[in-house]
Amino acid sequence: MQGRLFIISGCSGVGKGTLLKLFLEKNPAVKLSISATTRTPRPGETDGVNYFFISREEFKKAVENDEFLEWAEFSGNFYGTKKSFVEKTLAKGIDLILEIDVQGANQVKSKMPDAKTIFIMPPNVKVLEERLRGRHTEDEETILKRLKEAAREIEAGNNFDYKIVNDKLESALNTLQQIFDRK
Ligand code: ADP
Ligand code: 5GP
Repeated sequence: MQGRLFIISGCSGVGKGTLLKLFLEKNPAVKLSISATTRTPRPGETDGVNYFFISREEFKKAVENDEFLEWAEFSGNFYGTKKSFVEKTLAKGIDLILEIDVQGANQVKSKMPDAKTIFIMPPNVKVLEERLRGRHTEDEETILKRLKEAAREIEAGNNFDYKIVNDKLESALNTLQQIFDRK
């Protein structure tokens, strides 16, 4: 049987990475797709673990060769999901999560309507800003760019199959688990 595909999106700093790390510890059979990106690694990020960090030229070549299931420009950088990895993983019967932006989520949903889309909401915009700043991984210009995207992303999140408010981490994690446990 084919694996199931889940797409998780949400504003930068909302807590997607934090939630997914905990979720995957509890659900080791589920896989998280590793995207390709042209952005520079943050301190502590490793090539091939967090992302495949590639040049703009390499990214362009992969687009021309039709290697991506979806790709998008987000806040000045390119991000994409490799088609072959998704196809192979699902064919092995493994459930797969894509953690991608709302533009990419819409592209995948239109190609693969069975995919379940989940949007992670912040409790409010002030908390989102505090989390993004509190992470201390971006400079001021990048933070402002990402906060500017937030309203558009939250609007786009209205089309998703599920919405989870990441207020208390434990409760958001439980809701995510319930969505996965629905067969
Ligand atoms: P994203 O992957 O969506 O960009 P992160 O997972 O990096 O976001 O989280 C951004 C920051 O918010 C991190 O410092 C993280 O520890 C913190 N955070 C995540 N979820 C919560 C939560 N429910 N309550 C408080 N802080 C949180
Ligand atoms: P970050 O730079 O914070 O790691 O990611 C920025 C945004 O890009 C996040 O919304 C994240 O979900 C999204 N993203 C990560 N990988 C991909 C991808 O492969 N495709 C798309 N469309 N978005 C991605």
